[in-house]
Amino acid sequence: MIDYLIVGQGIAGTLMGYFLQKAGKRIHVLDNDSPRSSSKHAAGIINPVTGRRFVKSWRIEDLMPFAHQTYQNIELEFEIKVFHHIPLIRTLYDQKDRNNWMLRITDPAYEKYMDGKADLGSYEGQLHPDFSYGQTLQTARLDMPAFIAHFRKYWEKRGEFSISQLSVEDLDIQADSVRWGDLQARQIIFCEGSWGKQNPYFNYLPFRGAKGEIMEVAIPGANFDRILKRKLFILPLENGNYWVGTTNTNWFDHEEPTEEGKAELIEKLQAFLKPDFEIIGHHSAIRPTVKDRRPFLGHHPEQSRLIIFNGLGTKGASLGPYWAAHLVDHLLKGADLDPSVDIRRYPYPAPA
Ligand SMILES: Cc1cc2nc3c(=O)[nH]c(=O)nc-3n(C[C@H](O)[C@H](O)[C@H](O)COP(=O)(O)OP(=O)(O)OC[C@H]3O[C@@H](n4cnc5c(N)ncnc54)[C@H](O)[C@@H]3O)c2cc1C
Repeated sequence: MIDYLIVGQGIAGTLMGYFLQKAGKRIHVLDNDSPRSSSKHAAGIINPVTGRRFVKSWRIEDLMPFAHQTYQNIELEFEIKVFHHIPLIRTLYDQKDRNNWMLRITDPAYEKYMDGKADLGSYEGQLHPDFSYGQTLQTARLDMPAFIAHFRKYWEKRGEFSISQLSVEDLDIQADSVRWGDLQARQIIFCEGSWGKQNPYFNYLPFRGAKGEIMEVAIPGANFDRILKRKLFILPLENGNYWVGTTNTNWFDHEEPTEEGKAELIEKLQAFLKPDFEIIGHHSAIRPTVKDRRPFLGHHPEQSRLIIFNGLGTKGASLGPYWAAHLVDHLLKGADLDPSVDIRRYPYPAPA
């Protein structure tokens, strides 16, 4: 018998597996290998100050140092390179934007995250003119696809990973364990991303889902070495191409990439980038967003062997490590869950 069966190997399932195994627990990880996994298409940007009003991300003082430390520890432990410190430049569209930016910098709570002077580096001369730019400090990027691929290979070699779709109807929930086929585990952790809302045990939670489309482009002659944000991000990839994204919509009737999404990305990119580009790929995925924008952690109210870790929304790279470790502390040491992420903040069953 293993300790934990983990369902879903995006960033959520991967981090759960990592922390549980580090604590000496026996795990098995399942993933259905969907090309629409959010983590397979995420830019993996960790950005402490976001939005048009330049506001610090929720709990960033706790989340960001923990995320940096976790990814750096993993790099050392497994001798991989997946985490990159990278400057982020953002457009300030007008004088009001600039004033707001400069005002924030004078706030001691923000000064370590923002700089009034932005160095455009190799973007210099390659952009259509904008009013001004600001630079966000302490930004970083997790190469999420490589991170996940690394752990998949590692667990595959150890016989701890299978490609499989788990249907909860096939679970045999017993007094001391849960059985799924030949696998018997003390508990199951569902890390199903946007598919979580189809899980009959957890679909009472207010899942939302926000579709994002992205492109991979080649820009001949370009050598950009930082992230630029102007309505969308342009981000250098290890293969010499650029990740360009993203669209963001809560209303969609399918998960596939669309011509409208592609047209929107092209238009926004052409609005600021001078050089021609070639589209290498166009992808889409559904972010596991949640009504109150806080993760879902905890046990099913009636079936305590069933556990959820989900709701990482638009920020899996920064939220994932801290809240995965928090859930592991709860499972292994009995630590209380933070009420802001505990699924008991929602009534069960959901009111009609
Ligand atoms: C275009 C785009 C850009 C983004 N950019 C960023 C960014 O810059 N920074 C950032 O932090 N976040 C970003 N995100 C958000 C980020 O992708 C998510 O926060 C994160 O990846 C969610 O991870 P997850 O593991 O919860 O879900 P997922 O990555 O979707 O993983 C869930 C996995 O579970 C599998 N699965 C589901 N149900 C089952 C089942 N029953 N049986 C077997 N397998 C199952 C799925 O196939 C999938 O592999 C972006 C998202 C998108 C779409």
